[in-house]
Amino acid sequence: MAELVFFSGTMDCGKSTLALQMDHNHRARSRVGLIFTKLDRMGESVLSSRLGLSTEAHEVTDELDFWDVVVDHLTHGHRADYLICDEAQFYTAEQIEQLARIVDELGIDVNCFGITADFRTELFPGAKRLFELADRVQVLQVAALCWCGARATHNARIIDGVMVVEGEQVVVGDTAAASATLVEYEVLCRRHYMRRMNSHAARMASATPDVLPFDLDVCPVPPRD
Ligand SMILES: [Zn+2]
Repeated sequence: MAELVFFSGTMDCGKSTLALQMDHNHRARSRVGLIFTKLDRMGESVLSSRLGLSTEAHEVTDELDFWDVVVDHLTHGHRADYLICDEAQFYTAEQIEQLARIVDELGIDVNCFGITADFRTELFPGAKRLFELADRVQVLQVAALCWCGARATHNARIIDGVMVVEGEQVVVGDTAAASATLVEYEVLCRRHYMRRMNSHAARMASATPDVLPFDLDVCPVPPRD
């Protein structure tokens, strides 16, 4: 029985590495898959992991119709045993519905990989629809770590070293935009997310070595704005 599975986690938890490993395992058993991704940090039409591995992939645009792509692939005489869909949080709700239809009507396994919530702690549309429709949601067990060493559960957006909680939902990181602002992402534990205490802020706050370890109580939770 084919399944729609959502492998979810924070950034840096090894999702793309697992996606590549899964593709490798299927190929080793002579199974044929289609790989999709969106806004990969290495550029268009490539699925890459932070460990340095990468493979070619179909780039998902908002206009892409998964059903059409897969049916077209099959009617041209090609095989498809499974789909691997990375960065699925960025897909539209309609695209997740297309993936569910591929599972149900074509009997093809669809494995989606993605983060759940954005830098404001709100669900991405693709992740939300996957929670609603997936046969299984699997939370990845390779825990990303906050700078304090606790398990990181939240994705923070950092602009020029300062954590922000407002702005566009999707801004690709590690890029210095024309405005010369540097957008980065950092995974934090909830405690430090709520206190807006990213690693840079923590370093600044503990500049004198004798106040280490950093005392949480001196960084109260900022009021909601
Ligand atoms: Zn922490």
